[in-house]
Amino acid sequence: MSLKRDETGRLHIETELMAESLMDKALLERTETESVFRPLPDLSVIKLGGQSIIDRGALVVLPLVAEIVAARAERELLVMTGGGTRSRHAYAIALDLGMPTGVLAKLGASISEQNALMLSILLAPHGGIKIGHDDLVKLPSYLVLGAIPVMHAMPPYGLWEEPPVRGRIPPHRTDSGVFLTAEVLGTQRCILVKDERGLFTADPKKDPAADFIPEIEVNELLALDLPDLAVERAMLQVFAHARSVSEVLIVNGREPGSLTRALAGENPGTRIYRR
Ligand code: ADP
Ligand code: MG
Repeated sequence: MSLKRDETGRLHIETELMAESLMDKALLERTETESVFRPLPDLSVIKLGGQSIIDRGALVVLPLVAEIVAARAERELLVMTGGGTRSRHAYAIALDLGMPTGVLAKLGASISEQNALMLSILLAPHGGIKIGHDDLVKLPSYLVLGAIPVMHAMPPYGLWEEPPVRGRIPPHRTDSGVFLTAEVLGTQRCILVKDERGLFTADPKKDPAADFIPEIEVNELLALDLPDLAVERAMLQVFAHARSVSEVLIVNGREPGSLTRALAGENPGTRIYRR
């Protein structure tokens, strides 16, 4: 970059992007940088599922809280929360009333925030602190204090959420929100805590003969075009061209110790990775 004075005496910053539409394919290709700055590469980002975990109440949530507290002694964590069944109720009513996707996304965000509030209160005796999206840049300070930050996982598209290819449900929900958070923080992996062993070839609740998938490359998973998934398709699509996150683990929060093992670097469930 250099400064350049034009014939009227005005100064300009001469860059490759100057006077470009930012749509030129070759120019866009050249904006790929060698290295991405990764502010918190060692942070572990965990999502507790809304429907799959939090809606199951104390029986499932409290043992996970204990695992999170124990893990905090070893490593820095960011805990995020899904929405769950209440989101689905709100979506159903909003759809019935003809609401556009952006309104559904706003509703989903407030419900995953309810779960972040409850989880941060449960973690409060151990440094649990509820943070909002604007607080993400203060994360290093919270972590230095030994805190366990809890943030809701709905990404902030809100009213600007894009209409999906099929139907009207917001395509970027809390799996996508967790992934995008991990990506901007430069972490290597994120852990999705759900209620099944991991990913199967079909929903194991509907098809008991479905095959378990212990490990799969994200593009291969997208190519399988499975009829149903334990993770959002939009998250997989983002994952396929992510720069920092290289693996997403799906673990069973109903199986004691699974989260702890995942935090220690093992794969107790399904590992989706990017080549
Ligand atoms: P969360 O509450 O974490 O957002 P979801 O309820 O949205 O979780 O998704 C997890 C559920 O997805 C599982 O409980 C499972 O029943 C269902 N599911 C659908 N398809 C699959 C699949 N191919 N493999 C595993 N689980 C699946
Ligand atoms: Mg979900």
